[in-house]
Amino acid sequence: MKEHLLENPVFRMAADQFDRTADFLNLSKDIRKRCKWPMRLLTVSIPIKLDNGETEVFYGYRVQHQLSRGPVKGGLRFHPNVELGEVAALAMWMNWKCALMELPFGGGKGGVACDPRDMSAAELEKLTRRYTSEMLPFIGPETDVMAPDMGTNEQTMSWMLDVYSTHAGHMVPGIVTGKPVKLMGSEGRTAATGHGVAFLAARALTKCKIKHETATAVIQGFGNVGYYAALTLEGFGVRITGISDVTGAIFSAEGINVRKLAEHVEQTGGVKGYANAEPIDPAELLVQKCDVLIPAALERVITEKNAAQLKCRVLAEAANGPTTTKADKIIEERGDIFLIPDILCNAGGVTCSYFEWVQNLQRFQWGEQEVLSKLDTKMAKAFDRVISYASYNKLPHRVAALALGIKEVADVKEQRGLFP
Ligand code: NAD
Repeated sequence: MKEHLLENPVFRMAADQFDRTADFLNLSKDIRKRCKWPMRLLTVSIPIKLDNGETEVFYGYRVQHQLSRGPVKGGLRFHPNVELGEVAALAMWMNWKCALMELPFGGGKGGVACDPRDMSAAELEKLTRRYTSEMLPFIGPETDVMAPDMGTNEQTMSWMLDVYSTHAGHMVPGIVTGKPVKLMGSEGRTAATGHGVAFLAARALTKCKIKHETATAVIQGFGNVGYYAALTLEGFGVRITGISDVTGAIFSAEGINVRKLAEHVEQTGGVKGYANAEPIDPAELLVQKCDVLIPAALERVITEKNAAQLKCRVLAEAANGPTTTKADKIIEERGDIFLIPDILCNAGGVTCSYFEWVQNLQRFQWGEQEVLSKLDTKMAKAFDRVISYASYNKLPHRVAALALGIKEVADVKEQRGLFP
């Protein structure tokens, strides 16, 4: 199984990052093994009847990296490229992210290999319900709490909550986060990841002595995270000059109005064809001059092919694992890019999910301002910890963030000992 996981390039990346950080932390051989490998890897088949009457079998996964610090927490992704190794890598990153943010969770991730853009709402509902029912023995508010990720949203979470609650015989709001407010979702959760990305990008600009009002940003991905990151940055006075999604990429030196673009996307299904900007090659978009570059879509998009050409001052990793190991090395050698590593940059989502879970357990609902101000406090604290740890230990920001998370998990494993 270990070799099988390592064949996946995304898992290999996560494993390489872990090994490098474990070397820095000088972790013992025993603890190193216990931290690195996932505890549970689940694969299920999901047969559903399509609208055309045919039966199709999809494959779904859930990886629970570790439960030592609490229930596992992590998103559920619907995307054609989903594979067990990729899901395991994302679960591992979630583990360090939760520990870095001082949340009482382990890392988990799930996914179904499917193309939600080609599926009807009825098919997606059947897929979600059957996936949830296959997972019933392994999930619960004290064991595994899922949330939206690429290709899933609050509707997906509502169906999951319904399956779990129907089975339990009573409403169990703490089974998922990122659900609608009427189903005891949290105010502020939908915007939280993008809001956190923008909040930290703005902090990084200030560190680089760049005024927000003169700054520009380019964003890859205009889904939940990309949209709210763009909207919040626009609110800070930053000009959004380039945006891409799966349909194409657009650029405007004068700036793109985020809400108007969202209306266009709502009407046409993508950013392509937006009238007030020029089309641009999606690969070219990433190397346009800008102050902040935000990959907010897929993994492994900053590679050895484009890392040397990047013309940004701040690289804010909203997506998980957007920068390959080779690209990381190039960026470190360049030394002119302020990197906000993924496990810190996009941690607003899981932090707000933690707030949602706490509210659910207490059957209590906080207001949006309370949620966002608690979120900003936690994000600012984690940002400052990573930056000062990196500077004190002369480490790249990524290794510093990972080290803070991994050390937390390693300490807990040491204290709990090994069963039996
Ligand atoms: P989403 O499904 O809402 O949006 C994904 C966006 O990426 C869409 O605009 C899609 O068109 C675009 N996209 C897909 N393929 C692309 C390509 N080849 N080039 C350019 N754009 C492409 O997903 P999301 O929730 O916004 O998640 C985006 C990223 O952020 C993922 O890596 C996810 O793991 C990460 N993330 C999400 C959350 C969250 O709370 N949603 C939290 C932490 C991390």
